[in-house]
Amino acid sequence: MITDRLDDLPLLFDRFGLERLPDEQRQKIAIVDATLPQTQCGLCDHTEGCLPYAIAIVVDNEPHNKCVPGGQVVSDTIAKLLNKDTLIVRESRWPVDLNTSRPTEVRAVIREDDCIGCTKCIPACPVDAIIGTGKHMHTIITDLCTGCELCLSPCPVDCIDLVEVARNPATNTAEYRAKEQAHLRYRYHTHINRVAEQMSDKTHAKPVTSVIETMVGNASHQSLDIDETKAKATIAAAKLRTKIKKLEKQLNLRPNENNQAQLDHLKQQLAELN
Ligand code: SF4
Ligand code: SF4
Ligand code: SF4
Repeated sequence: MITDRLDDLPLLFDRFGLERLPDEQRQKIAIVDATLPQTQCGLCDHTEGCLPYAIAIVVDNEPHNKCVPGGQVVSDTIAKLLNKDTLIVRESRWPVDLNTSRPTEVRAVIREDDCIGCTKCIPACPVDAIIGTGKHMHTIITDLCTGCELCLSPCPVDCIDLVEVARNPATNTAEYRAKEQAHLRYRYHTHINRVAEQMSDKTHAKPVTSVIETMVGNASHQSLDIDETKAKATIAAAKLRTKIKKLEKQLNLRPNENNQAQLDHLKQQLAELN
C-alpha cells in the first residue's frame, strides 16, 4: 500500500501528525512524496526535505512547482496526479539534461589538497556521503552523493566543487527512478535516526563514520548507477582545473619555469580528458 511509506518515520516527522490525517490526504501525500526526487536539498524551502514539501502541497495547498532538482517534469507529474494547473517550475542554476528534461545532476568533489579536515561538512550531508576525521583530509563517496549542495556553505575554505554528471538514459525510467528514490529516502532517514541517536547519547561515543562505513559496505547495492568511467573523468577534470587555476594564479604573481612546465603538463592532461 502506498501509504505504508508514511509509517515508521523518523522522530523528526512526528510533528506533522500524519497518522491523524484523513486517508485521502495520506494517500495524496504518499503519492506526491514518491514523485519527488528525494535529494533532500531544501530548495523547495522545506529544509527537512521532500516529505515535508509533499505534506505542504497536499495539506496547505502550497504550489507544486518548487522542486528544483525535479524540474518541470516533476512539477507537471504532480499537477496531473492532483488534478491541478500546470505551473512553470522554480529555476535551477544547472542547465537541462537533454536525456531527462530535468536539471543536470551534479556531484560534490572535495579538493583534497585544500581540505583542512575541519569536519564541518560531515553533519551537513543528508545521506552520509562524506568520510574523514578531524584534521585529516575528507572525501566524498561519489556514488552516494545526491548533489544536494548542502555541504558547500559550511566549508570554511571553500574547497568543495560541484561537477555535472549526465544521466545514462537507461536509468531514466519510472521504475529505475522509483528504486533509486527509495534508496535515497532510506539513506536520509538513516541519517536522521543516527543524528537523533547521537543527540540522545550524551557520551557522543558513536563515531560519525559508523553509518557511513555500513553504507560503503552496501555501496554496490545503493549505487546511483551513473556511468562510472564518465563520472571519474569528470571528477579528474575538475581536480585538474583546480590545480591549473592555482598554478595560473601563482604564475601571474611570480613567473617560474618549473611551475610553467607543470601547468603545460596539466593542461595537456585536461585536453586528453575532454
Ligand atoms: S528534492 Fe525537491 S522536494 Fe526534495 S527537498 Fe529538494 S527541492 Fe524539496
Ligand atoms: S556530499 Fe555534499 S552535495 Fe553530496 S549529498 Fe552530501 S551534502 Fe549533498
Ligand atoms: S568543510 Fe571543507 S575543509 Fe572542512 S572537512 Fe569538509 S571539505 Fe574539508
